[in-house]
Amino acid sequence: MIYLDNAATTPLDDAVFEEMLPYFKTLYGNSQSQHAVGRAAAEGLISARDRTARIFGCQPSEVYFLSGGTEAGNFAVKGACAAHGRGAAHGRGHMIISAIEHPAVIESAEDMLRRGFEVTFVQPDGNGIIQPSEVERAVRDDTFFCAVMAANNEIGTIQPVKEIGKICASRGIFYYCDCVQSVGVVPFPVKYASAFAVSAHKFYGPKGAAAMYIKKGSAISPLLSGGMQERGLRGGTVNVSSAVGLAAALERAAVGADNRKVLALRNRFLTRVLSEIDGSILNGDSVLRVPANANLSFSGCDGENILFCLDLKSICVSTGSACSAGAVTPSHVVTAVAGKERAKSAVRFTFGKYNTSAEVDETVEALKEIVSRIRSK
Ligand code: PLP
Repeated sequence: MIYLDNAATTPLDDAVFEEMLPYFKTLYGNSQSQHAVGRAAAEGLISARDRTARIFGCQPSEVYFLSGGTEAGNFAVKGACAAHGRGAAHGRGHMIISAIEHPAVIESAEDMLRRGFEVTFVQPDGNGIIQPSEVERAVRDDTFFCAVMAANNEIGTIQPVKEIGKICASRGIFYYCDCVQSVGVVPFPVKYASAFAVSAHKFYGPKGAAAMYIKKGSAISPLLSGGMQERGLRGGTVNVSSAVGLAAALERAAVGADNRKVLALRNRFLTRVLSEIDGSILNGDSVLRVPANANLSFSGCDGENILFCLDLKSICVSTGSACSAGAVTPSHVVTAVAGKERAKSAVRFTFGKYNTSAEVDETVEALKEIVSRIRSK
């Protein structure tokens, strides 16, 4: 099996697993309980929060544990709307959302649109970058929220979050920066964002575990009623083993120690594919992109078809297409950046620390054979 879908998820690191283990059977307490078993779990949670805050560069009281990047995106958009709705002097207010955000953010914004908020979706340029000038142009007097991610999950492009954050900060706009795909590559925007989030399963931590930074004093209301955990902003018994796993994985990933290896694998792959397969083209900026990502379109081929053929050869990749009601919709990101035709023939290869150059070469050979077979039909 060759696994080249590391942007979808990564395997758990053995060392991270070891750190989590005691919290399943021995330190199993509810961290809110006021007895010895609860206190033992609470100690683990406090330590996980401290470690995460140190990596984020913020106060431990600004770190919130939750279930994933999807929850974080929903919480940021809907929580900011709920807080704003309460205090809005006139009307409902306006949000700026990049058109290449994860569906958790885009669809949350669409939900809010149906509830009377106004939204401007800012389009990327042809290299998959959201230009700060476009964000600035979209700002209105009643803009209270903006979401532009640090790195895109489909094409890997790195966004100018510092500039965008500064625009928002100077106008008192709540800026949410999705950092799910940028850990170890882009510094955390703690100085410029009101909130950002990471999801542990993207960097060799457990699934269902995210940490969100929320700047002290930011206007955000909880989505869940019925629990005072996480300082009243995220109710529900905290998953301590996951928080510990997230902190352990984050410490390893944040230093970017594997970037050089992953970049070398990605570049070996890209160089070979672009020179050996005619009609292949890279989607998104070739420089401003995370080391792991190669998103390519192959003219005359259907991306889904390539994915299935690679799967038959035990090579795992993705296309970024959404499948609903039996119909396949090409990636909204590649469509926004390069048009529908390129999106239909796009395939995402994402490399990780456990991949090898032999796997890269085997994938290139398989791809050459598959693309030429599809084209000859
Ligand atoms: N944001 C980005 C950029 C992502 O890539 C993902 C997952 O693919 C998410 C959010 C959602 O994260 P999770 O799988 O933890 O819900």
